[in-house]
Amino acid sequence: MYFKLYNTLTKQLEAFVPTNPEEITFYSCGPTVYDDAHIGNFRSFLAADLLRRWIESPLCVIKNSANPADPSRATRTTVTQVMNITDVGHMTDDENADGAGQDKMEVAAKRIEQAKKQGVIPPDQGISPNDPFAIARYYEQRFKEDAIELGLKVAIDDRDRDENTPTYMPRATDNIENMKTVIEQLLADGYAYPAGELGARAIYFDVQRFKSYGQLSGNALDQLKGGAGGRTSDTNTQQKHHPADFLLWKEDATHTMKWPSPIIPNLAADEQWGEGYPGWHIECTAMALARLAKDGLEGARKSHAQIDLHSGGEDNIFPHHECEIAQSCCFTGSDSFAKHWFHPRFLKVEGQKMSKSKGTMYTLRDLTAKGIDPAAIRLELIKTHYRANADFSMQGLKDSARRIVNWRSAAKSLQYASENDKRLIGYKQLRPALTGVQIAMNDDLNIARFLGILDKSVNDNRGSYSDLKLLEHIEKGVVLPSSPLNEDQVEKLLNSPHLCDQRLAVLHRLDNILGVIFRPIPKTQETSIALYQPGVTPSPEIEALLIARRDAKKAKDFAKADAIRDQLQSMGLTIMDKPKGQVEVAPLN
Ligand SMILES: [Zn+2]
Repeated sequence: MYFKLYNTLTKQLEAFVPTNPEEITFYSCGPTVYDDAHIGNFRSFLAADLLRRWIESPLCVIKNSANPADPSRATRTTVTQVMNITDVGHMTDDENADGAGQDKMEVAAKRIEQAKKQGVIPPDQGISPNDPFAIARYYEQRFKEDAIELGLKVAIDDRDRDENTPTYMPRATDNIENMKTVIEQLLADGYAYPAGELGARAIYFDVQRFKSYGQLSGNALDQLKGGAGGRTSDTNTQQKHHPADFLLWKEDATHTMKWPSPIIPNLAADEQWGEGYPGWHIECTAMALARLAKDGLEGARKSHAQIDLHSGGEDNIFPHHECEIAQSCCFTGSDSFAKHWFHPRFLKVEGQKMSKSKGTMYTLRDLTAKGIDPAAIRLELIKTHYRANADFSMQGLKDSARRIVNWRSAAKSLQYASENDKRLIGYKQLRPALTGVQIAMNDDLNIARFLGILDKSVNDNRGSYSDLKLLEHIEKGVVLPSSPLNEDQVEKLLNSPHLCDQRLAVLHRLDNILGVIFRPIPKTQETSIALYQPGVTPSPEIEALLIARRDAKKAKDFAKADAIRDQLQSMGLTIMDKPKGQVEVAPLN
C-alpha cells in the first residue's frame, strides 16, 4: 500500500516515487507580495503543507524506486520545501504569458498612495508608495506572520533556520543573477531570442523549440495561435515567433525596479541592452533549481536535475507552470522538471465565488480580528479534499472550532492521566485509528476520512478504569504543549507499557500532520470585571461600561443594563455573564 497522489502532468492517480525517498525536494509557487494573502491563497498553500506533513509522517508509505518491492521507512524522510516570494515582474495581465499590463508592485504603490491620502494606512507605517522594495518587504513580513500563524511549515522552517542554512523562502529580487544565468544559457542554446525596438526590447522563450509544450495544461500549440487568453497586445504578437512565446526579460529603463540586462550573444559590448526586469515565469525555474538541485544551477545542468514535487494554485497550471516546465527542461537538458505536479482547487466562500466587492475575500487578519482561533481557520481550509472546491463558511468555522476543542479535550485528559495517574485511560479507539488514517491518507490524501476517524475515536471514550467526570473536571487545569512531540518522542511514548501514554502518542502523531491541536492558543485577557476574548483590545471605555452595567443590574435598573449591552453591540462587541461577576467580551461576528 503505497502513497498515491494525483499528478496533474499525467492526469492520473499514481504512486509518488521520489528520486531519493530520504531527501525529497518540493517547490511551491508562493505569494506575490503586493497585498495581504487571502484565504483562497492560503487554501492552496495549506494543501501543499498538508501534503508535505503527510510525506514526513512515519505513517506515509513511500514507494522506493531503488527497491519497489520494499517500501522501507528505516530512515526518516526529510522534505526540503522552498516557497518563493514574488516581488518583481508579476504583471496584471500575466495570464497572457507575454508580460503585458502593469507590474503588480506598481499597482500596490498606487493603492498605498491612495490609502495614505485617505488615512487608511497610518503615516508612521513607514512604507513609501515610491519605494516598491519597501512595499514588497512590508507585505512579505505580513505574509510570513500569517503563514506561521496558520502553521505553514515552510515559513516555520525559514524562521527557525540557522544562519548557515539558505532561505526556504527566496525572493525574486535576490535571484536576478540566477535568472540571468538561465536566460543567457537559453539564448546561447537557441531556446530564446531577442526581439523588439531599441529601448523596449524583450527576450522571449521560443515555445516551438520545446516539443512537450502543452503537456501539463492540455493546451496544444496550434490551439494557442490566437494568443493565450486572447488579449495579447498587437505589438508583442508581431515581434514574437509564436503567440504563445513568453517573456523572459524586458528592457525598460522607466520601470521602477530594474537591473542590468542579460548579455545578448553576437552583440558588441557597446551595443548591449539598457536596464530592465525579468518576466514572472523565469524566477521559479531559477529559484527551484538554484535552491533544490544538487550544486545549484551549474549542477542542475550537469546532472539534468529534476525535482520531486511542485505545487501551485490551479490558476498557475497555464501559463505559469507550462512555461516553467519548458524553460527548465531546456536549461537542464532533462525531459522533466518536476516528477509530480500538485494543484489544489479554488476556494468558495459561503457557496459562492470569492469576491472583493462582496467582502468575502477574507484575509487571516480579518478573521482573527473577529476572535477566531487560527487553528479553526487552518482546519476549515484543509478539511476538504484538495481536488474538490472547498466551501469556506462561518458555520463551517464554528464546526471546525468545536472539533478542535473536542480533540484538545481528549489530549488534556490523556496528558493528565499520563502525568498523574496511569490507571486513567479511555479513548481506546485511538491506537487502531493510526491504521485507518494511514489507509485514508495514502489514498490521495483522503483528509475527510482521516478527520472522521479522529472524531469517532475521540468521541468513543470508554476505558476500563476512567472516572470521566473527574477527568473532565481535571482537564481544565491541564496545559497542552504549544507544538506536538517530535516523531522520536512519539515513538518512545508509543512503546510505553501504559495505554494512556500510547493513546496520547497517537494524538501527537496525528497532529504532526494536522497542526491544530498542540499549538499556541490565542490568549484571553482578564481584568476583575472582564474576560476579553481574542480579537478584543481591552480599553478603559469598555471597562467603564461594564462597571456601569453591573451597578445598574444591582440597582435592578434592567432597562439601563440592556441599553449598555446595546451600546457595546454598536461597538462591535457581544457580552456574556460569567460566574464571579465577570463578563466575557467577544467580537460580534
Ligand atoms: Zn512559480
